[in-house]
Amino acid sequence: AKQSGRNAYRFFTEAMNVSTLERLTLQQRLHQALERQELVLYYQPQLDLASGRVVGVEALLRWRTPEGLVPPGKFIPLAEETGLIVPMGAWVIQEACRQARTWLDAGLPPMTMAVNLSALQFHRDNLLITVGDALSAASLPAASLELELTESILIQDAEATLATLKAMNAMGVLLSIDDFGTGYSSLAYLKRFTVDKLKIDQSFVRDITSDGDSAAIVRAVVQMASSLKLKTIAEGVETESQAAALRATGCDEVQGYLYARPMPAAECEAYLRGKA
Ligand code: C2E
Ligand code: CA
Ligand code: CA
Ligand code: CA
Repeated sequence: AKQSGRNAYRFFTEAMNVSTLERLTLQQRLHQALERQELVLYYQPQLDLASGRVVGVEALLRWRTPEGLVPPGKFIPLAEETGLIVPMGAWVIQEACRQARTWLDAGLPPMTMAVNLSALQFHRDNLLITVGDALSAASLPAASLELELTESILIQDAEATLATLKAMNAMGVLLSIDDFGTGYSSLAYLKRFTVDKLKIDQSFVRDITSDGDSAAIVRAVVQMASSLKLKTIAEGVETESQAAALRATGCDEVQGYLYARPMPAAECEAYLRGKA
């Protein structure tokens, strides 16, 4: 029998209601995740390529639900849509600073703690106060904290963003550009903002041994960074041959499964002790 248009329409709206309901449930649970302390940070070491020394860690958010660990790709977009990323991001900054202080007190060598920032944190939050409070609560030097920005934040040269970044510079917090090379092609912001480091996106690293263009891009980025006196870190390094290719470009630092996966704090601490 031929489906009437009306029935098809009803089916469609019902299907939409289900997914809306699911979204609402997820949204509600995400709200509670903060209060119920279901959010945890994992830490992934960053190494100096020449010496193999650990120079920092990147804090990566995880949501621990009774059903298992939810990766950020599954809930950060929703947290951004709902604005929940603002309190969540503030928690990430506080928790990362607290952990950095714990590791210093435990006698581990000083290193930088890198934290990811969402664009919304620049517009909706008083980021300066959030960062300043987190640093002073942990009595952590500003230079121990590195904020990973995306090109999408820098491209909107809203006065407010510019002012916030300048103030971060003045405070002594380090700034890096995440996923470098995947965003906008304008490099003008490198002149306008004082950043300290470029994070070469893992898509270039993945293809560095198989694709001449990717290798050329990485070489060009490292050279440009070096003339601008910026550090470079390659992310997503998985094989020895990728590491060798990166070494040949003069890239400063590396991060990836070849060295260590993102780990819970206790496991990361054991790793850091082993390397110290
Ligand atoms: P990202 O900042 O580019 O982080 C790197 C991602 O690559 C992480 O995924 C990490 O686990 C993964 N990775 C690390 N080494 C390797 C490797 O060798 N191979 C491969 N294939 N992957 C590797 P993760 O933890 O799932 O995070 C995904 C994204 O979620 C992050 O990408 C970042 O954009 C976002 N994110 C994570 N934590 C936060 C946070 O606290 N705040 C905000 N705003 N975003 C976050
Ligand atoms: Ca990052
Ligand atoms: Ca990245
Ligand atoms: Ca990424």
